[in-house]
Amino acid sequence: MIQAERSYWESKLYGRKFDLIVLGAGLTGQSIAHFFKKNNPAKKVLVVDRGFYPIGASTRNAGFACFGSVTEHMADMEIEEESKIIDRIRRRIHGLGLLRQTLGDKNIGYREPGAYEIFTDARVYEQALEHLDICNRWLREAAGLEEVYQKCEHNGFPAISIKQEGCLHPGKMMRTLYEKNLAAGVEFRWQSQVESIDQDNGVLILENGIELEGEQLAVATNSFTSTLLDDIDIKPGRGFVFVTKPIPNLQWKGTYHFDRGYYYFRGVEGDRFLLGGARSLDIDVETTTEFGTNQKIKKSLTSFANDVLRLPEGWEIDTEWSGIMGFTSTKSPMLQRINNKTSVVAGLSGMGVALGMQLGKEAAEVMK
Ligand SMILES: Cc1cc2nc3c(=O)[nH]c(=O)nc-3n(C[C@H](O)[C@H](O)[C@H](O)COP(=O)(O)OP(=O)(O)OC[C@H]3O[C@@H](n4cnc5c(N)ncnc54)[C@H](O)[C@@H]3O)c2cc1C
Repeated sequence: MIQAERSYWESKLYGRKFDLIVLGAGLTGQSIAHFFKKNNPAKKVLVVDRGFYPIGASTRNAGFACFGSVTEHMADMEIEEESKIIDRIRRRIHGLGLLRQTLGDKNIGYREPGAYEIFTDARVYEQALEHLDICNRWLREAAGLEEVYQKCEHNGFPAISIKQEGCLHPGKMMRTLYEKNLAAGVEFRWQSQVESIDQDNGVLILENGIELEGEQLAVATNSFTSTLLDDIDIKPGRGFVFVTKPIPNLQWKGTYHFDRGYYYFRGVEGDRFLLGGARSLDIDVETTTEFGTNQKIKKSLTSFANDVLRLPEGWEIDTEWSGIMGFTSTKSPMLQRINNKTSVVAGLSGMGVALGMQLGKEAAEVMK
């Protein structure tokens, strides 16, 4: 790290106070910047991130543009009341609409290739079918969508189809948003690790000692928020994903869910296959902000691909990676104004592709 005193010229240029500084250049942070700048074109907006590009979840997720499977909703019923679940579904659906409208389907590689939850346990399938009516009612109440979940069979498995779920290319999504923000005049400082926050005065202190001052601060560091703000309780959750090399005659070209959303898989451009999840197998170890591969989870996903999904023999992993999610205790995201200078927008609980832009827009309106 280079240390040097600041010149007169640098102070004039870089010592300026910003109207808004957003900490975290993921989908949430960049959406806050996008909508704040759109609402206030003359105001100075800065986004600060520790990475060469965003390095949390937004460019490392599985690209499901989804609002929940039936067993995921059933699991949510155990920790949250119905009205909150319906409200979250509503925000996810609005968020996906907003994302597509703001960035454009073509730019983000949006597709709807067909979505299913599959089952291997007859009893669990029976229970899920018993919840079809309630889940369909929730979708109707949340977004006016009719008969979203329907009993079916898919690739020889008992299944529930999910109308209107899609998928996208997370890298293209983030690139498009970044380009829109640059064009609108939002400034960025990459590779700037924030060490601490002076919440009362709206100041960020970087690892290299530089201080940045904002009339307002928006902290959008998701899973990493608790390391910067003591009173914020967001638990990290590491997720593991791999994409295979092209597989001839791949049968799994849609988007798929299994076991309360803990396992997810989908087709990726050019006959490749993406599989991820299984965090539930080693939840304590995966409650971490460290990137890396848990071999137990990788092995289990590989067996799932071979023994359950029966991928054709000879398939190979092309790329594997991890990303870090941030969970609140109820899975409802946090949009909290700490004081008149600082707000926190975090805890997207594994649903941020759908929720990130919606939450960013809501936060930008609060910060008007
Ligand atoms: C493996 C995986 C698969 C997923 N799949 C899906 C999916 O299919 N569909 C879906 O809806 N959601 C999915 N998610 C969740 C979704 O990706 C997240 O909810 C969403 O990206 C969160 O966005 P964010 O901007 O809030 O956080 P992030 O993208 O994590 O952004 C936080 C940013 O803060 C920066 N930062 C952190 N600390 C500091 C610091 N001290 N100084 C400076 N910068 C800092 C980080 O570098 C990072 O860029 C998945 C997540 C993972 C990990």
